[in-house]
Amino acid sequence: MTGVHDLLAELPRPAGRIPTASPAWTDETDVIIVGTGAAGLAATVRLLDAGRRVTVITKAEPGDGSTAWAQGGMAAVIDTDDTATSHIEDTLVAGAGLCEPGAVTELVNAAPATIRRLIDLGAHFDLDRDGRIALGLEGGHHARRIVHAGGDASGAEVARTLAAAVATRADSAPAGDFRVRTHSTVVDLLTDDRGVTGVRLIDQDGTIGELVGSAVVLATGGIGQAWDTTTNPATATGDGLALALRAGAVLRDVEFTQFHPTALAVPEAFRRPGDRGVLISEAVRGEGAVLVDRHGELIMKGRHPLADLAPRDVVAAAIHEHLMTTGDDHLFLDGTHLGERVWREHFPSILMLCRARGVDPINEPIPIRPAEHYSCGGVLATLDGSTSLPGLYAVGETASTGVQGANRLASNSLTEALIAGDRVGCRLAARIPDTPRSTSTNEGRGYAVAAEHRDTIGAAMSAGAGILRDEAGLSVLLKSLDGLPVGDHARSAADVETTNLHTVGVVVAAAAMHRTESRGCHRRSDHPKPLRRWERHSLIRLGPEGLAITTRQKGS
Ligand SMILES: Cc1cc2nc3c(=O)[nH]c(=O)nc-3n(C[C@H](O)[C@H](O)[C@H](O)COP(=O)(O)OP(=O)(O)OC[C@H]3O[C@@H](n4cnc5c(N)ncnc54)[C@H](O)[C@@H]3O)c2cc1C
Repeated sequence: MTGVHDLLAELPRPAGRIPTASPAWTDETDVIIVGTGAAGLAATVRLLDAGRRVTVITKAEPGDGSTAWAQGGMAAVIDTDDTATSHIEDTLVAGAGLCEPGAVTELVNAAPATIRRLIDLGAHFDLDRDGRIALGLEGGHHARRIVHAGGDASGAEVARTLAAAVATRADSAPAGDFRVRTHSTVVDLLTDDRGVTGVRLIDQDGTIGELVGSAVVLATGGIGQAWDTTTNPATATGDGLALALRAGAVLRDVEFTQFHPTALAVPEAFRRPGDRGVLISEAVRGEGAVLVDRHGELIMKGRHPLADLAPRDVVAAAIHEHLMTTGDDHLFLDGTHLGERVWREHFPSILMLCRARGVDPINEPIPIRPAEHYSCGGVLATLDGSTSLPGLYAVGETASTGVQGANRLASNSLTEALIAGDRVGCRLAARIPDTPRSTSTNEGRGYAVAAEHRDTIGAAMSAGAGILRDEAGLSVLLKSLDGLPVGDHARSAADVETTNLHTVGVVVAAAAMHRTESRGCHRRSDHPKPLRRWERHSLIRLGPEGLAITTRQKGS
């Protein structure tokens, strides 16, 4: 019989680099920011304030990441009845033994000032009747501490505020000091033996360029597009994880994938490339919507004392089990009895997003299924962005700072992205690292996975690395990822993304196979309990011999 160690010894080898045509242009700057979500924009504001030369790169347009889609809000201790101790405790409980308490304390202490700074930059948050910031309550929090805007449009307000702050500062920057490269995808990091020295990128016409800088900040967001249903936008293809891995950086705890129980199962006729789901927030169930099957039977009744309002992972597992048992493709979230006023006033964004995909929640139950929502692990980094490689920084969802542990507490992620972005910006504003300005790429074995295989990866990941995992399913997944045909170079940004999705698939499956326990949002049906000996981080690195997985004691 094959043991887990044999399976791990034969892991597929992710691309060591992505070969492309030769660069048609080169340029240089001080700091390169990859990503224009909360983390990337927060860093950019600080760098522009300090007069640094900055180039910001984004795959589509500013605001194309998860940030603008956030429906809940940002967690911060603002209410006089709330305490930092309580926010810390709630975060540690959600993190199921794998949070780094130091990072959590830093986040909680910095959060209120981060909200004040956003207000100073022009953010308009929802207010209560007395004109104070209205504070929401979300699952896992023992106090009202969720700052929100426009009902369910908090992320859009954060994105608008930061984009406006960048635009104002850009107007007064000396010509050529500030550049934004839209519709450009970073393919690989440039490295030499002392660290990261820049990026190679591809634009929408397939033209390759190279940009050299003293610091590269990865603020590339999530990995959701690796699954066939996700709440994440089309840009969330795990590029930051793959770029860092190929350059030799360490990834941590990537097996901890948070699934959301209720994402719109987009009807086939409305499905567009990259549109793999729409988040239907828990708040809709909070208002009274219920989960039903195709016969209208209640799903959560009798399963948990809180029924439809049971914790996120309990609801997601119940839906998953129902779908597995019945073979159905989706269930329904019935909020037709809430009435038009509630939908329009409380959930205007969800209403609009569903209607744009042919579903009218006022008049019909919403087809839903669980979806990948958030990656708790990522590039090993401190809360001010330092990674294991000189010249490389990682902030926001792509980083693993120890704040999220084995499961993210709701609304801590936007707060983390803002704080880490702000901190790396301040740090690089004060001092640019003295890294060499050479343009070399790493020498690893290069290949590319063509864009036509994207759906195959999504289906394999959902089947093998979904809500409930086991050794047999993970092993099938790893084999199917290993069996994908590869080409000798990437012709388009879509090929680059698909190669990165393949890498994300391999590292998530490998780490999930390695962790023979259930903890936080990593659930194994063949190892259903958390184990004391597994109260450790998992680390992955790509070396000359392929992927190496180790574990490390917390706090070390
Ligand atoms: C639907 C939804 C609702 C959410 N609700 C909440 C909430 O209420 N509260 C909360 O705290 N969190 C929430 N989250 C999570 C939170 O929004 C994200 O974790 C956070 O916004 C991530 O910010 P970021 O700056 O790290 O990345 P993003 O905002 O995702 O930005 C990533 C950026 O990187 C760019 N990029 C990626 N790869 C490349 C590349 N190779 N080259 C160039 N550019 C690249 C993208 O184009 C994009 O600009 C939600 C997430 C989703 C999807």
